[in-house]
Amino acid sequence: MAIATINPTTGELVQEFEPHDAAEVERRIAEADEAARALRRTTYAQRAQWMHAAADALEADIDEGARILTLEMGKPLAQSRAEVLKSAKGMRYYADNAERFLADEPLPDASAVGASQAFTRYQPLGVVLAVMPWNYPFWQVIRFAAPALMAGNTGLLKHASNVPQSAIYLDTLFEEGGFPTGSFRTLLIGSREVEAVIADRRVKAVTLTGSEPAGRAVAATAGREIKKAVLELGGSDPFIVMSSADLEAAATTAVKARTSNNGQSCIAGKRFLVHTDVYDEFSRLFAEKMAALRVGDPFDEGVDIGPLATRSGRDDLAELVDDAVARGARVLTGGKAPERPGWFYEPTVIDQLPDDARLVLEEAFGPVASLYRFADREEAARIANQTTFGLSSAVWTNDPEEEAWFIQALDAGAVFVNGMTVSYPELPFGGIKDSGFGRELAAVGIREFTNLKTVWKA
Ligand code: NDP
Repeated sequence: MAIATINPTTGELVQEFEPHDAAEVERRIAEADEAARALRRTTYAQRAQWMHAAADALEADIDEGARILTLEMGKPLAQSRAEVLKSAKGMRYYADNAERFLADEPLPDASAVGASQAFTRYQPLGVVLAVMPWNYPFWQVIRFAAPALMAGNTGLLKHASNVPQSAIYLDTLFEEGGFPTGSFRTLLIGSREVEAVIADRRVKAVTLTGSEPAGRAVAATAGREIKKAVLELGGSDPFIVMSSADLEAAATTAVKARTSNNGQSCIAGKRFLVHTDVYDEFSRLFAEKMAALRVGDPFDEGVDIGPLATRSGRDDLAELVDDAVARGARVLTGGKAPERPGWFYEPTVIDQLPDDARLVLEEAFGPVASLYRFADREEAARIANQTTFGLSSAVWTNDPEEEAWFIQALDAGAVFVNGMTVSYPELPFGGIKDSGFGRELAAVGIREFTNLKTVWKA
């Protein structure tokens, strides 16, 4: 795949970039390695100052940052601006909390292990490779980079081939804040070059956000090389509506959960499971609200949904819908690509899905929602858990007992009650099953790429 910006709104090639050759990749790895040795000798206070300065620079440049995001992957401009601000917030969060998260942890009763003193210390690993996707071209990278750099690691970024301008923008951001040259570097390489970078002895660990096949490939190499890996892969999150729920609020949030970022989010609500007593009412409200969304040029004010990021992404989504319809599913709204240039797809709601429809098991990465009817909570949990993914989930209920039951029963990395899944710097983020392993964000996220050193003193 060429490394290029193709405007998804028009389908036109904006700019193609020459990939880095082997010598340039070597130079950048060497730089990151050298910077890792320098960075581990700096204090948290120093790194926090640089991180805040980089966040200041990002915020001050919000117009340009947001323009790049919308140009390269098509999310509505207001959402791009929100992504820039969220990224800066994530940087400040780790600037302010890293030292506390990574403080030495003493064993209160050292005599139990025959020591006068015993404690654990978190130390940086060195160079960490991040293989990142195009759906949140800044935020996905920042939520790796901010904790990694605050822990004293350095980062190499292999960004998705369709967001090179985002990758180049991020290449200089941390240096601009004051971090030593090489603390964070972009590698303009294709996915075939990733294996050699993971295998490089100077690279200590790898994190990937993206599809399941990409995750399997990267984890296999990391396993062979005995290197730590964190994987954030796809999801097919259930959004469960019980009969006690506030249906109007649930339907409004369901639309947002499904269509935010043009529906291209790993934590989007994708399967909407509705109690039979409120199924007709909820599906009517939901389909009406989906149909009312404004699809159009993401640079235009008031547009809710822009194009999908790539032609292949749009075509894959259309295939999933066509397959379901061919097998007898019912389209409540949408169901096709509008007649216009660019890679648009109508906000779509489908129900009566037969078990063999691909949509039942595969991830719909775009504004397509499937509805499922259930009779009781056991059936809801069975449908929710039948997917091979296990990223997040949402449940809408006003019954405390039901709420407690679902928190326990859902096989997922998170449960959001009467809300939609959102990533917050303060909360751990990650999944189980084919959604991957490891966690990002919060205290646990910064500890993933550290050496937890045990210290024992006689
Ligand atoms: P990919 O997983 O292919 O891309 C994500 C990143 O992984 C990119 O940087 C890509 O590089 C890289 N990559 C791809 N294959 C390999 C490999 N074998 N070894 C190393 N790196 C690799 O996602 P797509 O863009 O193709 O999207 C396909 C589907 O993935 C979506 O429909 C969705 O289901 C899922 N996805 C999930 C995301 C999430 O947030 N969890 C984000 C994006 C996609 P390159 O671009 O050069 O191929």
